[in-house]
Amino acid sequence: MTLVNSSSLPKTADVVILGAGVMGTSIAFHLSKRKAGKIVVIDKDHVGRGGSGRSSGLIRMHYSFPAEVEFALISLRMFQNWQEVVGTPGDFRRTGFVRIVHPNETARLKLNVEMQRGLGATVELIDKTQLRELQPDWNVDDVELGAYEPDSGYGDGAGAAGDFLSAARDMGTIYASRTQATALHIHDNCVCGVVTDKGAISSPMVIAATGPWTRPLLQEAGYDLPIECEYHQVAILRNASDMKGGGCACIDSVTATYFRSDAHDKFLVGDFYGKRPVDPDNFPQRASDESLEEIIERACRRVPNLEEAEVMRGVTGVYDMTPDSRPLLGEIPGIRGLHLCAGFSGMGFKISPAIGLVMSELVLDGKASSVDIGPFRPSRFAENAPIKAEYEYVDD
Ligand SMILES: Cc1cc2nc3c(=O)[nH]c(=O)nc-3n(C[C@H](O)[C@H](O)[C@H](O)COP(=O)(O)OP(=O)(O)OC[C@H]3O[C@@H](n4cnc5c(N)ncnc54)[C@H](O)[C@@H]3O)c2cc1C
Repeated sequence: MTLVNSSSLPKTADVVILGAGVMGTSIAFHLSKRKAGKIVVIDKDHVGRGGSGRSSGLIRMHYSFPAEVEFALISLRMFQNWQEVVGTPGDFRRTGFVRIVHPNETARLKLNVEMQRGLGATVELIDKTQLRELQPDWNVDDVELGAYEPDSGYGDGAGAAGDFLSAARDMGTIYASRTQATALHIHDNCVCGVVTDKGAISSPMVIAATGPWTRPLLQEAGYDLPIECEYHQVAILRNASDMKGGGCACIDSVTATYFRSDAHDKFLVGDFYGKRPVDPDNFPQRASDESLEEIIERACRRVPNLEEAEVMRGVTGVYDMTPDSRPLLGEIPGIRGLHLCAGFSGMGFKISPAIGLVMSELVLDGKASSVDIGPFRPSRFAENAPIKAEYEYVDD
């Protein structure tokens, strides 16, 4: 395992990855597996301490844009076989997952499920009676159909980032924590390295996997990205005594909440809504009691027993939102060797294993082959070509 202290930061690298969240570490893992040369990962903090360590960790296949389903499917296979693939036990818990949409979007739900099944997802439409049997704690009187994925569940963002990083380090990747990229070296329209607060590293390839901190870093290099930071709060509750527990994860458009069981006796509830703008270096670390109450109140419409559940704590965090709520993946136009992997808009954890794979293909082969990432190109907003899924939901 290669360890680095600040005085021995390498001066050169074949690839420098900025950020040790799930994205940067997944890229490092996949590049190391392909023996991509001298790989250096730096993080201004520690591994998994950005959005990854605050993630609710839901893992589901339900997307309306096919490439995202493909990312989720590749990733699910890795989460399910973590020990074999990454070499550590992993934190994936299979609870099942249900997607509930607005009643007027049921036709879209059916079409999206058909598309997902065509891509290989295990998902079925279930009606009110089946939902009641599956989740006796839920009130589903207003639900005509839900999309049920028996194999989905949740995982742990900090755990996944730590696992990816240690596997990458075992294969020779060099990691420097508490090392901040302050500028990018660009010459003749090519990136040639990065300046950090601990010294400079020359490299023909730099990948920015810097989450909510990406915009200012790229602005400094003369490239403005439409990434906005959005503040979110999540409630962790202790199950009420009469809850059956072991519940499915759920994304519910009607209450505008998502929720899942947390370990055997807890429950997590998150919110669709967030506040913009927010400073990713200076946001409230403690969720407000009023906000948590309001989120739980909405979730109670679906899970009435939550009314009796004790609030244990709140989690706060920042999403890196793009205008179409989809990530920016690929080379920055006009700056050869500078790649972007950011803007995951509150949905990146579940697809991070696949994102590392496609980014490694892009960097080493010039093109991602596992999934076509062309639609996610960073220039799409300047080209007025945001991603719009065929059967997109109003709150996608
Ligand atoms: C509250 C919350 C709930 C979420 N729930 C879910 C969910 O249920 N399911 C799901 O799939 N996704 C979820 N997400 C989203 C998911 O967690 C993120 O999309 C994912 O973790 C992003 O990973 P990342 O590696 O891009 O970013 P981050 O984890 O933020 O990592 C970026 C890293 O870059 C480092 N960095 C930044 N700038 C620099 C610099 N200049 N130099 C060096 N290092 C730098 C930071 O220190 C940080 O460690 C949630 C996010 C939050 C906040």
